[in-house]
Amino acid sequence: MRSLITRRLLSTVANKSKVKHVAVVGSGPAGFYVSQHLLKQKSVDVQVDIYERLPAPFGLVRYGVAPDHPDVKNVEATFTKVAKDSRVRFVGNVAVGQDVKVSELRSAYDAVVLSYGAAKDRDLGIPRENSKNVISARNFVGFYNGLPEASGLDVSLDCETAVIIGLGNVAIDVARVLVTPIDELKETDITEAALEKLSKSRIKRVFLVGRRGPIQVAFTIKELREMLHIKGCRPCFDSKDFQGLTSDIVSGLQRPRKRLTELLFKSVREGPTDKQLPLWGENHSKEWHLKLLRSPLEIHADDSDAVEAITLGINRLVPGSKDEWTEAQGVEDTGLKERLDCGLILKSIGYKSVKVEDGIPFDETKGIVPNVDGKVEATDGLYCAGWLATGPRGVIVDTMTAAYKVGQTITNDLENFSDTKTSVGGYEVIANLFKERNVTPVSFQDWEAIDEKEKELGEISGKPREKITDVQQMMSHIKDDS
Ligand code: FAD
Repeated sequence: MRSLITRRLLSTVANKSKVKHVAVVGSGPAGFYVSQHLLKQKSVDVQVDIYERLPAPFGLVRYGVAPDHPDVKNVEATFTKVAKDSRVRFVGNVAVGQDVKVSELRSAYDAVVLSYGAAKDRDLGIPRENSKNVISARNFVGFYNGLPEASGLDVSLDCETAVIIGLGNVAIDVARVLVTPIDELKETDITEAALEKLSKSRIKRVFLVGRRGPIQVAFTIKELREMLHIKGCRPCFDSKDFQGLTSDIVSGLQRPRKRLTELLFKSVREGPTDKQLPLWGENHSKEWHLKLLRSPLEIHADDSDAVEAITLGINRLVPGSKDEWTEAQGVEDTGLKERLDCGLILKSIGYKSVKVEDGIPFDETKGIVPNVDGKVEATDGLYCAGWLATGPRGVIVDTMTAAYKVGQTITNDLENFSDTKTSVGGYEVIANLFKERNVTPVSFQDWEAIDEKEKELGEISGKPREKITDVQQMMSHIKDDS
């Protein structure tokens, strides 16, 4: 009987001789990082086909990351390198679940990785949530970042007060875009339509509202620091929200929470620094308020159904609990309420994934595909990665770490597949389906033609690019010979 090592070696040799076909659904960070990991493995030869709904790759790096954070978008260079690897094929303009079924991909490929992100909003579940100018932060972000389906967003900035529900980095991004001087946004890749709208904005006051206390805010220190240094915009805190929080408690917190709370605490207690005062200006034109310990209860609308106010319930941190002054500490309703007049409400309370097709395990409550290290439970050859697998948490680096793990799970499985479990046709089969269905896939070369056009358009207005927000228009810039 052959030893285990010999059998492993033989199986590796057999597998190496056979290229394994992997379909990745979604070209955001998760899709690219899984692909990168697969390409690096020596034990299995792979052909990776990345299917993407839009003609443009990179997911939320292109359509989520704030325009004034260009450094974050540097990861696009890494993803481009992956896409240009001879073993990778980008298949854009193909919505999996519609243009091609996951089940069809599964028949054609050895492994299918679902990494199509989390494209839906969580609702507040309060009365009059559908009033005019109550908008999801996801849509607003999509609008200023050129996401095709958000390009026609009906949002009015013709009011003095905006309320943002949620205290994560997305909420902060949106607040920052609303109060940053327009000249500072002009040189970013923000869309012309958003610039136009922001240049006419009457918004003077932005409230950032969170359910819990100062130790539970979800934004990070970099984002807070930026909010404390916006020209012409003063931050406002309510010292009551910080009652009971002492320097001793703050110094006992774990980093990075400690550093964040120190900065918050210092801003509340000590007021502006010498650098901040002249930056904000004596007659600052704008201000933002941190509203902690508030839960949205009800939205009020006028006769034309446009939002005019929101009622917030006032909470307090659960006193005397063992979690006191920790991130885990809960809140309870005090029964008290307050009303905030406002003309715009942006909901930023999280994202959730959708099920693209029946037959794929899906946890409706968590809004994720249930999995163990990326392997979809009770299936064969089906994997998931990114926000679809973990829920909409963390930053790109977290998505990367988790995606590499998924890449390893797939590699382990591919190494152990016997030669009888092989793909049936890979992309060739799917390409034939596209012909039958009149689907026009977009290659990475096609995307580069679009990219080139966007950069050219951007040069005219002194921006890194002017994003093309219409899919048909994007397609019209693809060169015939590409
Ligand atoms: P996504 O990036 O959403 O990628 C999913 C991809 O799948 C998309 O390209 C989508 O078009 C595609 N897709 C969807 N449905 C289908 C389908 N049916 N068929 C084919 N393709 C499909 N992190 C940071 O580190 N720094 C930041 O500054 C930062 N800013 C952020 C701002 C916002 C507004 C948001 C929401 C997140 C931000 N993040 C930031 C977090 C970061 O974007 C995520 O960690 C990361 O994008 C998750 O990667 P993903 O691949 O799972 O999802």
